[in-house]
Amino acid sequence: MARSTCPTTASRLIVDLDALCRNYASLCRKLAPAACGAVVKANAYGLGAVPVVEALRAAGCRLFFTAHLAEALDLMSVVDPTCQIVILNGLDPDCEAVCAEHGFVPVLNSMAQIERWRALAIARGRRLPAALQVDSGMSRLGLTIDDARAVSTTAIGDHIDLRLILTHLACADDPDHEENRAQRARFEEITRLFPGIPASIANSGAAFLTPEFHLDIARCGIALYGVAPTLAQPSELRSVVRLDARVIQIREIEVGTGIGYGFDHIARRPMRIATVGIGYADGISRRFALSGAAWYQQHRLPLVGRISMDSLAIDISDLPDGLLAEGGFVELIGPCQSLEAMADAVGTIPYEILTGLGRRHERLYVQNHRSERHAAGAWS
Ligand SMILES: *Cc1c(COP(=O)(O)O)cnc(C)c1O
Repeated sequence: MARSTCPTTASRLIVDLDALCRNYASLCRKLAPAACGAVVKANAYGLGAVPVVEALRAAGCRLFFTAHLAEALDLMSVVDPTCQIVILNGLDPDCEAVCAEHGFVPVLNSMAQIERWRALAIARGRRLPAALQVDSGMSRLGLTIDDARAVSTTAIGDHIDLRLILTHLACADDPDHEENRAQRARFEEITRLFPGIPASIANSGAAFLTPEFHLDIARCGIALYGVAPTLAQPSELRSVVRLDARVIQIREIEVGTGIGYGFDHIARRPMRIATVGIGYADGISRRFALSGAAWYQQHRLPLVGRISMDSLAIDISDLPDGLLAEGGFVELIGPCQSLEAMADAVGTIPYEILTGLGRRHERLYVQNHRSERHAAGAWS
């Protein structure tokens, strides 16, 4: 039986792939001569890894980073042999054979992982690609500095085709933090032991630091998706995401009427309330009820009462009568209310908002026709 698709959805996540590719081009310019790889873990930060990778590949990107093997496998249909997929979190033993079979590049984060990967290469009778991570001070993943010193190029080189050596900064989003330089110095001591192997230190934050942090390859995630690492710094990044949700009911209520669970809000005047079909299951934090709003044609429409799992209420009393009807869409994230503003309002970071958006939104991908793209001068 053919599966029916739902004709409408209560919310739309609109992903501007043209803006994504412009951000990629802008980062490439900023980082050159270093190369820019794209971090597409967590379903490309919630935006949809397959369309994101397809668009970036068309824009010239050949290097992609996931966190897990499963995420790399999801990209099989959209990469070709000229692309490399690096698996940042490394492999547990059960995943190694599948990883080798597909030619993915695992990050080796411990001596045990190096040993096992080398043993597999010997068993297969061929060199296997890998990246090596060094913990230069974040205490998260990677070889300790001492272990990294002990792993010589020759020990790795016979059976492991080392493509990349990387480390990750703890404070890259703070340009003045002295630990950035300290981590870089510790990492440099190690990279000197691996001459000729491309080195990588920069996430988006470090891509916006001075060029001494760019090294050979950067690993950019959030900046591709339109968020500047530090608000203070000017950037050419364009926002990529818009989130709209549908008004599913409108009602008039009288003074003294409670709104939503627990009656957190009680009408002090006659009100017009719109119920919008998006809730905390869709990534709208319950904390957003305190100060948040939706937007419609430049009108700010404050949230009222608690946010439910699948809906929230907004006060549309001040809108001209009839301007917003049932079935209309209001903006939650977009030109009127930035991702950064929403993150700020609920005390988190844009990363958490994006990756928490959930699966129920219809994801729409904007990609202009070639002629429009050229007319806009997007690629110049
Ligand atoms: C997630 C991640 C990145 C990307 O970070 P952004 O701040 O989104 O650019 C880069 N490198 C590693 C190791 C990561 O885990």
